[in-house]
Amino acid sequence: MCVIISPMNTIISKRTYQAIYRLLDMVSPVDFDCGTLCGAACCVCAYEPDDVDFHAEGDENADNYMGLYLLPGEDQIFDMDPSSKDTDCDWIDWGYLQAEDYEFPESWTGKVCFIQCRTAPVCRRKKRPIQCRTFPLAPHIDENGIFNMILHCDELPYECPLVTGYKDGSIALEERFIQATYTAWKHLLMDPRIYDLVEMDSELRVENGFDIIIIK
Ligand code: SF4
Ligand code: SF4
Repeated sequence: MCVIISPMNTIISKRTYQAIYRLLDMVSPVDFDCGTLCGAACCVCAYEPDDVDFHAEGDENADNYMGLYLLPGEDQIFDMDPSSKDTDCDWIDWGYLQAEDYEFPESWTGKVCFIQCRTAPVCRRKKRPIQCRTFPLAPHIDENGIFNMILHCDELPYECPLVTGYKDGSIALEERFIQATYTAWKHLLMDPRIYDLVEMDSELRVENGFDIIIIK
């Protein structure tokens, strides 16, 4: 099935993010804890200099860190107020990057929320970001504007056994996971900024000659 997504002038609301999180809460890439295969490589792989304190807006050292940026508006899911009694964020360090200083699409302006997990691989599972929830799949838009979920193929500082296992046929990904990640990204792509990011990443993959394996 070929699906061409036309982004609407939509900002993904907190309610939509919550619905997407709920949908993705119900699925996993495989029916066992894949962290046992690799020591949760995608969570614990981190470079954190000892001499910097990352818990502040606009931290100038943020580019020294391994971490995750949130999608536009995804920070509404979290209570980022350090003085809050809510413990939503007691497992992450967070800050805001200036989009223009990094390789984001031109449509990304202003602050981009960036988080690091303090207690990885343990986290508040219901709060883990979209990036964690849909890995090892990635959204891809080809040169004809057709949207697919593909096997993650961008360069990573670790090897994911689900990716290698899928390629050699020793691991199958759960159908429900594939369908849910597809549905989630189809909604997310309605935001033109998210669409631009996915389109930019997709173009880079093609330019770099990465092996694009379409899953759905
Ligand atoms: S997604 Fe891949 S890298 Fe992450 S824990 Fe599972 S097998 Fe390991
Ligand atoms: S939020 Fe959770 S799943 Fe995601 S990288 Fe951090 S520890 Fe891993």
